[in-house]
Parts: sequence; structure tokens; C-alpha cells
Amino acid sequence: MTHRVIVLGGGVIGLASALELSRKGHDVTVLEKVRCGGQASGAAAGMLAPYSEIGEDPDDFFRLCLASLREYPVWQEEVKKISGHDFEYTNSGSLHAVYHEADLLALKTRQSWQREWGAEAELVDATRIKKLEPHLSDSIIGAMHYPEESHVFAPDYVRALEEACRKNGVTIAEELEAVEVHSWKEDIDLVSKNGQRFQAERLVIASGAWSKELEETFSLNLPVYPIRGQICAYELGDKQVNHIVYTSQGYLVPKANGTLVNGASEDIAGFMTDVTVSGIARLTNWNKNIFPFLTDLKPFHTWAGLRPATQDGYPFIGKHPNAKHIIFATGHYRNGILLSPITAKIVAALLSDEKTPVPIETFAPNRFTY
Ligand SMILES: Cc1cc2nc3c(=O)[nH]c(=O)nc-3n(C[C@H](O)[C@H](O)[C@H](O)COP(=O)(O)OP(=O)(O)OC[C@H]3O[C@@H](n4cnc5c(N)ncnc54)[C@H](O)[C@@H]3O)c2cc1C
Repeated sequence: MTHRVIVLGGGVIGLASALELSRKGHDVTVLEKVRCGGQASGAAAGMLAPYSEIGEDPDDFFRLCLASLREYPVWQEEVKKISGHDFEYTNSGSLHAVYHEADLLALKTRQSWQREWGAEAELVDATRIKKLEPHLSDSIIGAMHYPEESHVFAPDYVRALEEACRKNGVTIAEELEAVEVHSWKEDIDLVSKNGQRFQAERLVIASGAWSKELEETFSLNLPVYPIRGQICAYELGDKQVNHIVYTSQGYLVPKANGTLVNGASEDIAGFMTDVTVSGIARLTNWNKNIFPFLTDLKPFHTWAGLRPATQDGYPFIGKHPNAKHIIFATGHYRNGILLSPITAKIVAALLSDEKTPVPIETFAPNRFTY
């Protein structure tokens, strides 16, 4: 059975969900208050790095991230084929680098449980690191090499998703300024600030860092908060960087266009997306300890975006407890680009009352509603 579906929010989560829903035959409209991909999704470094990001234990969130990484090879091919656009899906592998002997122990612990989950995780010493990544600093004494970790060029990925949606017949309404939910308990009725009305039978909430605004409407506590990420990029010139280099202080991602993306701060600044001198200085002071050649370079581009963080660090993915036609897909914090394929597949399964590809109980939208 197919439905008329509204997806609220045109970031990577809304667009990926809309694309998957359109592939299942639903009649989909995306409502975006500004421009699709104009917020966190277009600002991201594009890493697909669950092993580097989650080192503590194999919880449900790790499983979700891993499932999504494994969706990517097929998913990205399909998005490219439908959209006709490339977005630099690069299987570079990553090096999770450390400076101290004590940190090697932590890497060994994560290696043992990550291998149980099928990770190719190889602990490499300083000599081998130099072969893999010749320009890395001598102060790095070891690293975990994850050949599976990859990255995309996030702004192009979001553009490709948007184009794929349009080609699949998804209606995209942008620059709506504000969209209010007038009714949702039975039929869904939304009105934009400029007076446009949108009606549907199903609603997917993918409004990222702004999701908390909907708490009162849906009688749910949705503790989603904007965490600003300031980030910068360098022109690499004649220097070559082969892998994502990840550390406890930040990361560096080499892009196919000869640039090196260095992220990212995590600061609280409300909904401000401006870049500060101190935010970028934190990156530029630190990154020369990873690649000494950066001492002589200045970033050619700086920007910032608002990650949708939740109180417990897990996204909200699931149905409204009292209205099964309302689906939440928000709060993906640091990993929304990685999580976009699996979230899209979960949303499509929920909408058709099918079994989800992975368990989602941990991500229930009502887990903070008492
Ligand atoms: C600097 C930085 C680096 C990052 N690096 C990575 C990375 O390497 N890998 C990774 O996986 N993730 C990364 N992330 C995280 C990732 O960008 C986010 O998790 C992801 O973009 C969230 O997607 P989203 O669609 O939920 O949010 P958004 O992209 O913010 O989209 C939400 C959209 O909803 C719209 N909206 C809100 N309210 C309404 C409303 N009422 N009506 C209509 N529209 C509305 C907004 O305008 C916005 O366009 C990074 C983030 C930042 C900031």
C-alpha cells in the first residue's frame, strides 16, 4: 500500500528518506524552510567512520552505524545512477592515530571487540604508519588502520540526493521560512509562513537541530540541541594524504579535489552558524602535530554547521507512540551522513509496517517522555 507522505526537513536524513520512500512507490513531498542541504548536512566532513567514532562498546548505536556503513557501497551506486551526479565516495581507509603508549592499550581493547563485529582493524607501528602516510608527524607512535572506513563529499552527496529525489518524482518545496503543523492526529495538515498548505497521510520528522521546536505539538520530550561544528579546509598542493586521519582531538580528511578538510569544534552557540577566530585556532594549533607541513599553510575556507545532538547521544528513530503515521528520524549528531542509508531504509520499513533492518527500540522517540 502506498501513501501520500510529507518529509519535514531537507537535510541528508530527510532527502535520503524521501528517496527511499519514492522508490517504494509513495507520493512524497519534502518541505524545507530554507534550502535543501543548507544546514548540518552540507557542512559535514563526510566521514563514514563507525570504528573511529565509537570505541567504547558495541552498543545498539554502533550496530546502527555499522549497518549503515555496509549499506553504502550499493546505496551510493544507486544514488549516483538515479541522480546522474558523482559525490566522491572514496574508500580511503582511516588511521586512528595515538601519541602515548597508554593509548595503544585502548586501541587494542577496541580492536578485540570490533574484530568480533567483522572489522578489519590492524594495529600499525610507527614504521608502517610512515609507509601508509609519509607526511604524518614522528610523534605519532601507533595507529589503528581501518581499511573499510570511507568518505563522501557531503555537499555533493546532498545535491545528488536532492536530484535523485526530483528525478524519482518527489516534490520539493523550499524557502518556506517556517512550517507549522496544524493537525496530525488523523489527517496531516501543515501550513507554511507564506500560506501554502500541505496535506498527507503520513509525516516524517527530519528537522535536525530544530526538532525540539516540535515537542509541544507532538506532546513528546525531544531533547535535541544544536552543537556547532567549526571546520576548515587546506589546499594540499604537492603534498599527498591518503587516509582519513582520526585522533581524540579532531580529524583530517583528504578530498579528491586536492583539499584537506580539518574538523571540527564542538561548541554551544545556540543556532549561530558563524565561524570564530578561537574555534578555527583550536584546529590550526592542533593539526600541525598531525601533519607538520600544515604549519606553513593557512586554511583557504572555513565554515560551520549545527549538529543535531540528543541528550543521550542516540538519534530519535521510530513512530510516535500514539500516532503510528508520524515517524521521527532526527538527532543524528556527529554521524548523519554515515547513518543516512540505514535511516532511510528504517523509515521506509516503518511506513509500510514492515520489520526494520536493525532493532530500533533504543532510539524510541518517547524515551524521554515520562
Ligand atoms: C562540521 C560538521 C562535520 C560533520 N562531519 C560529519 C561526518 O564526517 N560524518 C557524518 O556522518 N556526519 C557528520 N556531521 C554530522 C551530520 O552533518 C549531521 O548528523 C547530519 O547532517 C544531520 O542531518 P539532518 O538532515 O538531520 O539535519 P540538517 O542537515 O540540519 O537538516 C535539517 C533540515 O531541516 C530543516 N528544518 C528544520 N525545521 C524545519 C521546519 N519546521 N520546516 C521545514 N524545514 C525545517 C532545516 O532548515 C534543515 O535544512 C558533521 C556535522 C558538522 C556540523
